[in-house]
Amino acid sequence: MNKNDIYRTLPKVDELLKDEFIASLSESLPNKIINEAISFVLDEYRDLIKNTSDDNLNKIDISVHNIVNKIITKSNELYDDKLKPLINATGVVIHTNLGRSILSQEIINKAVENTCRYNNLEFDLETGKRGSRYNHLEDLICKVTGAEAAHVVNNNASAVILVLSELAKGKNIPVSRGELVEIGGSFRIPEIMKISNCELKEIGCTNKTHLSDYRDAIDENTALILKVHSSNYKILGFTESPSLEDLSMLAKEKELPLYYDIGSGSIIDLSKFSSFEEHIDEPTVREALKYADVVSFSGDKLLGSAQAGIIVGKREYIERMKKNQLTRALRLDKIIISILEQSFKAYLDEKKLFEKIPTLRMLSMTKEETEKRCLDLMDIFEDLKDKYNFELLDDYSEVGGGSLPASKLNSSVLAIESKKVSSEKILKSLREYNPPIIARIKNDKFIIDSRTLLDGDGEIIKKALEII
Ligand SMILES: *Cc1c(COP(=O)(O)O)cnc(C)c1O
Repeated sequence: MNKNDIYRTLPKVDELLKDEFIASLSESLPNKIINEAISFVLDEYRDLIKNTSDDNLNKIDISVHNIVNKIITKSNELYDDKLKPLINATGVVIHTNLGRSILSQEIINKAVENTCRYNNLEFDLETGKRGSRYNHLEDLICKVTGAEAAHVVNNNASAVILVLSELAKGKNIPVSRGELVEIGGSFRIPEIMKISNCELKEIGCTNKTHLSDYRDAIDENTALILKVHSSNYKILGFTESPSLEDLSMLAKEKELPLYYDIGSGSIIDLSKFSSFEEHIDEPTVREALKYADVVSFSGDKLLGSAQAGIIVGKREYIERMKKNQLTRALRLDKIIISILEQSFKAYLDEKKLFEKIPTLRMLSMTKEETEKRCLDLMDIFEDLKDKYNFELLDDYSEVGGGSLPASKLNSSVLAIESKKVSSEKILKSLREYNPPIIARIKNDKFIIDSRTLLDGDGEIIKKALEII
């Protein structure tokens, strides 16, 4: 057969659509997807035939059976969820690339229950008139943080833009060179200030800024004093920056508001957690509010809830932000409002807090607990001992999410060595498993950090290891 004959033997689209396996596929998948898969597979065959030398043409399998199988595989691949769950075995709790803080099933379920029907999102049940979507959260946030007033937007980056646009538009703000930070991808304080139409006055040096630097920079066109928490890096050694208390005294003296972008936004004092290797010094929102007039933080970092930017502080400033036009552009969806409500409610009941906020449960886990979890994993992996060596090692987990960069969590981790394949091969195979399992390699050893595993993950990892 020459190439033209082979092209002609390829089945036609309508023939394929009549194939019994493809017909039954259309019961579960949209026709659009199946048609796309058919075109894809036939194109692939045409390319293959074109690029194959005449001598090798007979090696191409153009049986209908083979073509149909490829179409089924491709259809499933095209229709597979793009955003899907995976197993985090990295030990990085607030993993920026793996969904930041995760939510408990209980909180998600409650939020779904409250929003999958019509609801009172913007309806005042007492008066029967229009209500505000922000009322559902404000009192609760104030109760939990001790703030006078609160406002919530899409994320903390937009919270910073809103605060600066409202309080500092067309004016200047002195910022310490040590706080001109970039956080995550593309959130840079100097750029954010440009977007917010305010002028940045750089003061001090990267490692040292004195209160007098602030005092000297303040003029009649200064809008506020800004402090940015250097949440994702730490300058060590010969360093100095004025305390929040000093800044607040200066702000009062100059009659300017003090705004603290605290970033992670811890509600509880994390220094109580014995899981951290060293004493940690992360300000809580309540502490920050003692001195700052306005404080903003993320919903999905240390708070452990959904993506949001929470702004708390003096009522006079918060009310101005609520009225700003940007608030409409940055507004939250009902499902997020409901999740935030459930998360803040969890903080009212300390007994159930760790159950409802996985981020806090994982951060508080002691080394002994991680060791116990690794031993449980070894029990699950018992049958795999002829293929792998298992070993407990001392290591560190990380908070992640640009929170507490220098604070390590003491952990026992499980090192797994295959008797046949390399650690890189295990890493890759597990990543390609369904569900994907993400882990790390340290000193050539494949490491499972149990701190971030959820119920049932051990059994799935076992199945993935079995087939390597
Ligand atoms: C994380 C962070 C932000 C950005 O918050 P998002 O919720 O990611 O938008 C801003 N400022 C600081 C100090 C942060 O740590």
